[in-house]
Amino acid sequence: MDTKALFSISYGLFVLTTVCEGKDNGCIINTVSQVANMPNRLAFSVSKANHTHDMLKTSGVFTVSVISEQADFSLFERFGFHSGREVNKFADFPHTKRTETWTLAVTKDTCAYLSGNVLETVDLGSHTLFIADIVEMEVLSAVPPATYAYYHAHIKPKKEAPKTDKTVWRCKICGYEYEGETLPEDYICPICKHPASDFEKVSG
Ligand code: FE
Repeated sequence: MDTKALFSISYGLFVLTTVCEGKDNGCIINTVSQVANMPNRLAFSVSKANHTHDMLKTSGVFTVSVISEQADFSLFERFGFHSGREVNKFADFPHTKRTETWTLAVTKDTCAYLSGNVLETVDLGSHTLFIADIVEMEVLSAVPPATYAYYHAHIKPKKEAPKTDKTVWRCKICGYEYEGETLPEDYICPICKHPASDFEKVSG
């Protein structure tokens, strides 16, 4: 079975935000689809490793902001490379708007947002599928939405070969580097939460 077949599925990139007990948090997700139009409904999948996942399960309110091709890498660093357990991802970040669901839409580097209420969740193992009603949505710019492929080709900084004699494993998704002779089979990328199978050996 060639798991690379999965790489031929196209994805977008989104900032998913929620608010729980007065605290705002958000993370980057890549799986959002409109799954009905009467009424308008979304389905999106979130890794259980994300703090936003747990908060959203409690709050049931969210905004999905659609990242545009104009987005800077710093947006991915802010929302994707830290945990909301340790940092306030909205510190010094004024580019937001509170929606009807009281969650924050990201208004910079995005082309639209959709805000709503969770109707149902499905346990998928590593991820939870959230099915939701949309209660507010808005187009923010005419810049096309960034696909995952666009992110890899144009937004993510190109990495040089690491300057070390040690064996390095690099996450193909986010670029995180793990140093060590062998990569544990159950290793999870601390940044993007992808498994060991998404790492490649880059030196050593
Ligand atoms: Fe990663």
